[in-house]
Amino acid sequence: MKVGVLALQGAFKLHVQALERLGVEAIEVRSLENFGASEALIIPGGESTTMSFLLESSGIFDSLQERSNNGMPILGTCAGMILLSSKITDGRNDQKPLNLIDIEVRRNGYGRQIDSFESDLLIQGFNSSFRGVFIRAPLVENVSEKVEVLAEINGRPVMCRQDSTIVTSFHPELADDDRIHAEFLELVSNS
Ligand code: GLN
Repeated sequence: MKVGVLALQGAFKLHVQALERLGVEAIEVRSLENFGASEALIIPGGESTTMSFLLESSGIFDSLQERSNNGMPILGTCAGMILLSSKITDGRNDQKPLNLIDIEVRRNGYGRQIDSFESDLLIQGFNSSFRGVFIRAPLVENVSEKVEVLAEINGRPVMCRQDSTIVTSFHPELADDDRIHAEFLELVSNS
């Protein structure tokens, strides 16, 4: 199994390491060609405005939309969640969402860097809590009925799934816990 990690910008290295610990070949995706060799994609945290621009200029944006619509599994964390959403508030004016999961997000909705926090999350299907690390995290303001909410804080979704797209507003690669990556790989094997 070959799983791509978008490596145009941001916190991609620890996702690559998590995949390798789970025995999977990780591809750092920087071009349409690397993307073509990947069966699934992780979009890491980072700066969604920059990633948005680089996704478009590299041509990955259109290909990603097409492959996702054909069932390719995608995991988007933090900035990745923002990029995959259907509507971005407080983004850059020309920032275009991929519209691959029907959620509306507010960039930096939990506050700025100084408001970063950690929280023990109850995630659907997990038998013990998962440490959620939130760094300038997006706030999910709306989800459609197509979306399954897998975890929430104070009634706000922080992990969601729609078909083969999973998003988290936190950074699972910082938790020292590979369960979310393992669950994603299960989705990839079954797709
Ligand atoms: N606030 C960042 C953005 O808008 C996301 C932060 C993160 O990925 N940790 O892109």
